[in-house]
Amino acid sequence: MSELPYSYDAPVSQALFDRAAAVTPGGVNSPVRAFRAVGGTPRFMVSGHGPYLTDADGRDYVDLVCSWGPMILGHSHPEVIAAVQDAVSRGTSFGTPGEGEVALAEEMVARIEPLEQVRLVSSGTEATMSAIRLARGFTRRTKVIKFAGCYHGHVDSLLAAAGSGVATFALPDTPGVTGAQAGDTIVLPYNDLEAVQEAFHRHPGEIACVITEASPGNMGVVPPGPGFNQGLKDACRENGALYISDEVMTGFRTSRAGWYGIDGVRPDLMTFGKVMGGGFPAAAFGGREDVMAHLAPAGPVYQAGTLSGNPVATAAGLAQLRLLDDAAYDTVNAVSTQIQALVTEALTKEGVAHRLQTASNMFSVFFTDRAVRDYEDARKQESFRFTAFFHAMLANGVYLPPSSFESWFVSTAHDERAVQRIADALPVAARAAAEAQA
Ligand code: PLP
Repeated sequence: MSELPYSYDAPVSQALFDRAAAVTPGGVNSPVRAFRAVGGTPRFMVSGHGPYLTDADGRDYVDLVCSWGPMILGHSHPEVIAAVQDAVSRGTSFGTPGEGEVALAEEMVARIEPLEQVRLVSSGTEATMSAIRLARGFTRRTKVIKFAGCYHGHVDSLLAAAGSGVATFALPDTPGVTGAQAGDTIVLPYNDLEAVQEAFHRHPGEIACVITEASPGNMGVVPPGPGFNQGLKDACRENGALYISDEVMTGFRTSRAGWYGIDGVRPDLMTFGKVMGGGFPAAAFGGREDVMAHLAPAGPVYQAGTLSGNPVATAAGLAQLRLLDDAAYDTVNAVSTQIQALVTEALTKEGVAHRLQTASNMFSVFFTDRAVRDYEDARKQESFRFTAFFHAMLANGVYLPPSSFESWFVSTAHDERAVQRIADALPVAARAAAEAQA
C-alpha cells in the first residue's frame, strides 16, 4: 500500500476491510469497490452530504462517483430525505400495489415518449434480464446481440465481454455462465454497424433483440458515433428484432428524458435504474405497450419481485425525479463542463496524453492520445497513469471511480467550494500521472 504514489494510511477503513474480508468474498459487496484496479485501501464511508463523502477515518472527499450515478442531487438532499422519512413512517413493504409506484411510473412515462408502459423492479440487472426475456418471449427467438464493453448488469447471458467491473478486472468469460447461456449471445464491436448487419445476415429469423447502452459509460465514456443508435434501430426493424436501449446509467441523468432526450431514437424497450431510485433499489423496464402486454399477469412472460415497487424506494425516486427540472440539468451540465475543463487543463499542462470523452454531463478520461470508439480502444489506454492520478486525487480529498473503465458523475450539489477542491488537487494528480511508470 505505502509504495503507491501519494497514498496514505486509512487505518479505520483498513480494519473494517480486514473484518469484511473474513465474512464477505474480497471484502466487498460489489467488485469495483475493492480498489483492486488501483490498489490501496477502499474507503469505508460513513456519511454523505451534498457533494461530500466522509470516511470512517474522518476524512472527507468531493465525490465524483455519486454512488455510480444515482445521487444526481448530491447526498442527503433534504427533500428526498423528507420523502423517505415520510414513507418509512407509514411502513416499509406491503407486498401489495400502492400509489407511490403508480406515481413513479406516471412520472417516468410523462418524461419519455416511447415509454408507454413500465414495470418496476429492484436493480438494473433485473431490468435488463427481464427486458431480454420479454424480447425473447415476444419475438419467439433466442439470440441477443450485445456490444463488447457494454455492461448490462450481471445477467448470465450478458456477461460476455462486459464493461464495468468485468473490464476493470479483465475477467475472461465468467465461470458459472453455461455455454448454453452464453451461446445465444452475439458480441460485436461497439460503433460497428457493418458487424450488426452481418450478424443479422448470418442468423436470419434468430435474433430477438439488440441491447446497447444508450451511450456507454461502462468502458469509460464512449458515446455512439453519429447515426449508430438509429442504425441499430433500423437494422432491428428490418429484421423483426427489438431494439433495447439500456438507460440504467444515462436515464434521467443525461437529460430529463435521458439519452432518448438527446438522440431521439425510439427504442422498443428501455431499461432504467440508478437516478430513478434516488439512492434506493428501484429500477424499471418498459416501452411499447403491445410488447409490455406480453408480461404477466397481462400476458404469458413471467416476471415478479417481492420488493418491486417498494414504497420507500419509490418515494425516494419520485422525490428525486420531481426535483430534476430543466434548471437542475443546467446546473449539472455546467458543473460537469467546468470540471472537464479543469481536468483537461491540468493534464495538458503536464504533457499527459489523454482523451476526455463526454456524453452530456457524464465524462471520463482515457490516458491515450487516440479517440476511443470501442472497447479495444479503451483497453489500449495507459491505465497505470490513471492509478497514480487516482491516488493523488484521493490524497487531496477527491474521490474518483477506482477504475479507468468508469464514468465520472457530478451532481447539482457540486458547488464552487467543491470545484475549487478539485481544481486544487488536479495539478498534483496530473504530475503524478505524468511521472507514473508502467
Ligand atoms: N445497465 C447499465 C448500463 C449499468 O451501468 C448497470 C450498472 O452499473 C446495470 C445495467 C446494472 O444495474 P445494477 O447494478 O443496478 O444491477
